[in-house]
Amino acid sequence: QAEHDAVRDKFHILVSGDEVPPPIPNFRDMKLPKPLLDYLKKKKIEAPTPIQLQGIPVAFSGRDMIGIAFTGSGKTLAFSLPLLMFSLEEEKRMPFVQGEGPVGIILCPSRELARQTYEGLQEMARLMEQGGFPQVRSLLCIGGINMSEQSQVLSQGFHMVVATPGRLQDMLEKRKFTLNACKFLCMDEADRMIDMGFEEDVRNIMSFFKHQRQTLLFSATMPKRIQDFAQSALVQPIVVNVGRAGA
Ligand code: ADP
Ligand code: MG
Repeated sequence: QAEHDAVRDKFHILVSGDEVPPPIPNFRDMKLPKPLLDYLKKKKIEAPTPIQLQGIPVAFSGRDMIGIAFTGSGKTLAFSLPLLMFSLEEEKRMPFVQGEGPVGIILCPSRELARQTYEGLQEMARLMEQGGFPQVRSLLCIGGINMSEQSQVLSQGFHMVVATPGRLQDMLEKRKFTLNACKFLCMDEADRMIDMGFEEDVRNIMSFFKHQRQTLLFSATMPKRIQDFAQSALVQPIVVNVGRAGA
């Protein structure tokens, strides 16, 4: 325990919540499959950043989490790896049939951010498949793109959705797919999302879930409005707060 606190101190990580999983300051110890370790190597990502070394173990543990870390601190990987691993587990447990899914959603405040996050997931999923793991598919659900381009994914069934809230809500209301199998929700840049007026859309999206879900909320800042939102949307969250060194 003291050893875990020493790691947190070293990386300026503050945690709160019950039974916080230990930080893991090395990707090799995170039980990641080889293709993902190769992906990290290819991206010249050697050691996890603070939000990753504490956030990934929390996300893998299934707990709700609030991750607070400044821009450029590697938050994308902190939620993308857990969603990908969860999707693979679900696919192994019960192979997806036509039109099924998703098991997890990432919400982003902008189309551009959603697209980048989606592309990262696609790349990791492709490497996993090449490495002999089951295929997992993602859907990009944003305004300004023609969903028929993704009709193959829509009809095959897909594990992950990366979306902007407005477009996802629209798709759900039009019954293009359901969230009946969905158990994971991540909100990226939650502060921006709330500032942009997406709170009601996000709440509406939550109402489509049928299962208990794991909810992750990432933000660079934690103003009162986000705290209140998190309070109502998350269950006994672990808070991982990474300060800038020296700040
Ligand atoms: P944030 O969302 O917190 O602003 P990003 O997830 O966009 O940050 O990551 C910022 C940049 O850092 C990206 O180019 C990403 O590839 C890179 N990066 C992520 N994790 C690491 C790491 N552990 N080591 C080095 N670079 C990393
Ligand atoms: Mg980000």
